[in-house]
This record gives sequence, C-alpha cells and structure tokens, in this order.
Amino acid sequence: MRVILVLTWLAASAVALRAQAPLENHLHSIPWAAYQRQSVKLLQEYLKIDTSNPPGNEIAAAEFFHRLFDEAGIPNTIHPYAPGRANLYARLKGDGSLRPLILLNHTDVVRADPKEWRVSPFSGEIVDNELYGRGAVDMKDEGLIQAMVLLIAAKERLPLKRDLIFLAVADEEVGSTGSAWMIQNHPELLRGGEYLITEGGGNLIQPLGGTIYGIGVAEKSPFWIRLVAKGRGGHGSMPIADSAPNRLARALDRIVNWQTPMKLLPSVEKYFHEAARLQPEPRARKFRNIRKALRDQTFARSLSEDEEYNYMLRDTISLTRLQGSTQTNVIPATATAELDIRLLPGSDPQQFLGELTRVVADDQIAIEPISPHRIPNSSPADTTLYRIIREAALARNPRAVVVPTLNSGYTESQMYRRLGIHCYGFAPVEITPEIDSSQHAANERIPVEEIRRGIKLLYEIVARAANEP
Ligand SMILES: [Zn+2]
Repeated sequence: MRVILVLTWLAASAVALRAQAPLENHLHSIPWAAYQRQSVKLLQEYLKIDTSNPPGNEIAAAEFFHRLFDEAGIPNTIHPYAPGRANLYARLKGDGSLRPLILLNHTDVVRADPKEWRVSPFSGEIVDNELYGRGAVDMKDEGLIQAMVLLIAAKERLPLKRDLIFLAVADEEVGSTGSAWMIQNHPELLRGGEYLITEGGGNLIQPLGGTIYGIGVAEKSPFWIRLVAKGRGGHGSMPIADSAPNRLARALDRIVNWQTPMKLLPSVEKYFHEAARLQPEPRARKFRNIRKALRDQTFARSLSEDEEYNYMLRDTISLTRLQGSTQTNVIPATATAELDIRLLPGSDPQQFLGELTRVVADDQIAIEPISPHRIPNSSPADTTLYRIIREAALARNPRAVVVPTLNSGYTESQMYRRLGIHCYGFAPVEITPEIDSSQHAANERIPVEEIRRGIKLLYEIVARAANEP
C-alpha cells in the first residue's frame, strides 16, 4: 500500500514538474539585455512627459502607452473622462481558466520646483547611473515596468491561464478621479479580477545589509473629524471660565491623552514575526511572539511610544488644526479643532465616533466627520500571488526579509478591493532610504540598475502568477 502511494506521489510530482518545465524554459529563454536597454530608454521618454497634478494632463501619458501597445499589437483603449485627463486600459488574453491579474499604476505626479533640482525634473537625465525625473519612484518606474511585462509577454508568447490587464489611471495624487471613473463607468473591465498589483509596498535596503521587502496588504483609512465648541464671546480682559476655547482646550487635553485600544491584525502579527529577524535580542524574541509580548504592559508601552510601530497597532489620532479668535483681545464664541484620525481595517467609524464622544464628554462640543465615510479593507497574506512575490524576492536577494505591511496612508487598493480583488502594494525595485525619501521631494531618481533588475523580477512574478491557481 505504501509503495503504491509513493509511486502515485512520484507520478503526480513528475506531471507537476513537466507542467512547470515549459514555463521555466520560457523564463530562461528571454533575451533580457535588449529588453533592459529598451526599458531604460522608454522610462527616460516617459519621465519627459509632464503630468504634474494639478492639472495632470495625463492624456499625454495615456497616448505614450497607447503607441507602445499598438506597436506590439496589444489591444488597448484610451478612456478620456475630462479635458486633458484619460486612463489607459490594455488586456492580453489568457486561456481563461484562471481569473485576471491586473497591473495598476498612476500616470500623474506631484509638482516639482526645478530650482531645487540638480537636473530638470522632466529631463529623464541619467547622472551617475541614476535616472532623474518627477515620478522616477512614484510611480512612473513601476508603470513602465508593468507595461514592459505585457510587451515581453506578448512578444515572447508567455503561456497565460489568466488575462493580464494593464491599467494606467490619472489623478491618483489629488482626487483619484481616474480610478473612480473607471470603476463607475467600466466595472465590466475589472470585474472578475482575482489579483491586482500596484504601489503601496516598498523594498528598503538596510544600512547594515539586507533588504526589507514590504508587500502592502492593507492601508489605514482616514476618518477626519472637526470639533466645534460654542460659548459666550467677550473681551479678553474679562475671562469667561467656560468659553468656547477653554472648553475645547479641556476636551483636546482628554483626547491627546487617550490611548485608543490596541488591536493586533493577523497581517501585523505576521509582520512582527518576519521582522524579528532584523531585531537584536531580546526584542527579536518578543517580535516573534508579539501577541504574547503585548500582554507585558511595559513592552506594550514601549511599542506605543515608537512611531514606527504604534500606527500598526491602533486607530490613531493626530491633532492638526486649531482655530479660535482672529484677535488676541477677543474671546470668540466658536473655537474649532480638526483631527486626522486613521482607522485600522476592521474598525467601524460609527463605533469610533461613539468612543470619541465619550472621551470628549462635553455636549456643547459638536463632533462632525469631514471626510467621506470609508470602511478600511485588507487582503490576505497567504494567497498564491503573495507567496509567488515572496519567493521571487528571496530568489533575487537571499538576504531579503519579506513582510506584509500595513500602509499608514491611503492607496487606491482600497477602491479595488471592494470589487472582490486581492490587492497588493509591490514595487519591483530595491532602493535606499535616501532615494525613497526623494518621492514627492527634489531630485527624485531611481538607479538604472534597479530598472534593469525590476523588469526581470516583475516579469517572473507575473509569469508564474499567470499560470498558477
Ligand atoms: Zn503614487
């Protein structure tokens, strides 16, 4: 009986190996050098297109991709939706036995002040093997790499069980109108998608060696609040004990001293477990079993005081705006404050509002939400795509530590998850903290070598994911 079982297992493994062999052969047969040269040249061209938002003018970027895909015979459509603004959608058909994989990128960039830059922000110049340009990291590099993946897949006839969708959207940096328009007007082009890769991850080279690969699986959701205190106004020389500013100050004191409860999400638990490898003892031991370690009040407090970790463990509140009188000698009848609250996936805005109201404990202070009510979502860290990204990262860099990350900010993954798609933030490049901090700042740039390696890495991930259930 055991012999038969072993034989059956051997036969099954052989079938699996045979099925994998064509894909491995395919990956080994690609003439990378030519594609890498082409990618660098195309990224230089792409970075020359000024899509500073506002106003955006992303139609120029959509036309750029349109020409590329047309030349390669890949079906694609420009979707204009406002003057100067357009998305581009391309689709490479698979055999339909698995659900589509979407590569999402935004074509707009934040503005750049040329006076602060070493080279013109829209020159696409290479200096010391680094490619300069607004969008070089956020995220024209990734957009171009995603497009190259489709071009190579078409040219080299990558076998596909899934359709590959390339979607370049406008206006991510300001209003997300590009994605919103697409989801509202063409849900049929996205529906059925199983996976999506976009920005929101990051792979940071560590000062002491190794690289932390962050795969974005979740984002915190903004829930902005305005507090409005009312009271009797008067002359500043005659203090009023319960004036609007005084009431507000007391309420704010209660809020900033309020520790919201800790919540440990499964992906955050996994993050600590993986990140333990980079920590010295005894912290490493605590990170490995974070759930248990957090029961120790002293340790829990030390993590709460660490800005790098605190936001992962609770709903957070930052007091950001204060307004009272416009004159020093006038006690105003109204005083306001605004709070930038960020909720964890799974937190309920209404419930949070109830708790905040109890902390404020003053019925003369109105508490008003001022941002759209969005329930934050997340994707699991145990899917086929997540595993493939992890394995490919480790194959590229054996000193990589791959962690699922919770983004403190918002990304458009939130919008696409609502369509039932598993969305991951993943960038196929490794960068230093210095280059990372050039995003939205002066001298944004990417090492040329990272573009060359990034093409191979993302192609391998997509090729494997497109053929594995
Ligand atoms: Zn971005």
